[in-house]
Amino acid sequence: MDFDFENRIVASEFSSSEDNDIELSLRPKELSEYIGQEKVKENLSVYIEAARRRGDTLDHVLLYGPPGLGKTTLAGIIANEMGVNFRVTSGPAIEKPGDLAALLTNLNEGDVLFIDEIHRLSRAVEEVLYPAMEDNVLDIIIGKGPSARSIRLDLHKFTLVGATTRAGQLSAPLRDRFGVILRLELYTPEQLSEIVNRSAGILGIDIDPKGALEIASRSRGTPRIANRLLKRARDFAQVMCEGKITKEASALALDRMEIDELGLDSIDRLILRTMIKNYNGGPVGLETIAAAIGEEAVTIEDVYEPYLMQVGFLSRTPRGRQVTPAGYAHLGIPMPGQQRMDV
Ligand code: ADP
Repeated sequence: MDFDFENRIVASEFSSSEDNDIELSLRPKELSEYIGQEKVKENLSVYIEAARRRGDTLDHVLLYGPPGLGKTTLAGIIANEMGVNFRVTSGPAIEKPGDLAALLTNLNEGDVLFIDEIHRLSRAVEEVLYPAMEDNVLDIIIGKGPSARSIRLDLHKFTLVGATTRAGQLSAPLRDRFGVILRLELYTPEQLSEIVNRSAGILGIDIDPKGALEIASRSRGTPRIANRLLKRARDFAQVMCEGKITKEASALALDRMEIDELGLDSIDRLILRTMIKNYNGGPVGLETIAAAIGEEAVTIEDVYEPYLMQVGFLSRTPRGRQVTPAGYAHLGIPMPGQQRMDV
């Protein structure tokens, strides 16, 4: 069976440029507009306030959590609340130490440099980052061989905000240089419902509370997915339900997109079904699952697995991944022998 991974409706990465424009308009600009993540917000507001009172720059911040949870948004809010410029780049975009040097020398005092997917920085680039983060200096090697010499440039003091899907992916020396490390959690349906209502307000979409909750509870705890499903539900509501997104209109749209009542799509179900049919429900290694369904292991780990674990359909054991009794029940597949499911 062939699945269209790129256009997967619950994909939590960016897709088209139209989506990007809409995402920009939906991004909260201030901490008070940022819904949920209460612990993160409380701590961050203290750090921001303290730095502001001292007239200092904010310490370097590492944000981690699955894609689409609001890391870029939060970094933008930090810059906005500190009243400084916001520069955005990503680990894979910084190919050479010189690329990073160019970015760093262009920063003004206090600016926020956001590096998405910071775990994908090369070793050589990381080496340049360390003294910049610690002492606000740039060590550049000029020339090659015996005549090579190192010169040191002073940089403006800046705040690095790094984002990664898992803090464990980062090298220890890099992780240790962040003064603030914050973990973003999946959102509850109630919080997502607030986000859907807020987005609907900005986009001028007519929606009732039950319609919003229906979308929210099928969005895998992820704001980016909730916003995307909202736009698709609007299409169905316009064509089939007189424009208003009610519970029925949302349910119709989501069913048509093959997203079930818990937010699982065809690929989530494919993962579970493949584990059950080919490997007796597990334990089975991540790489084996990835090969069987034709998806990358890191994508399964970062995008699909957190939610399948959150709803309790998949568990991690020392010997691999295992489908839980609840996972079997959700697919309506009888479990082979109860004694196997010792999770
Ligand atoms: P990440 O960087 O973690 O992949 P983003 O910051 O790009 O995620 O967030 C994706 C979208 O979700 C944003 O466009 C924003 O509209 C929305 N969003 C994320 N977090 C929140 C939040 N706490 N409140 C409101 N909207 C949010």
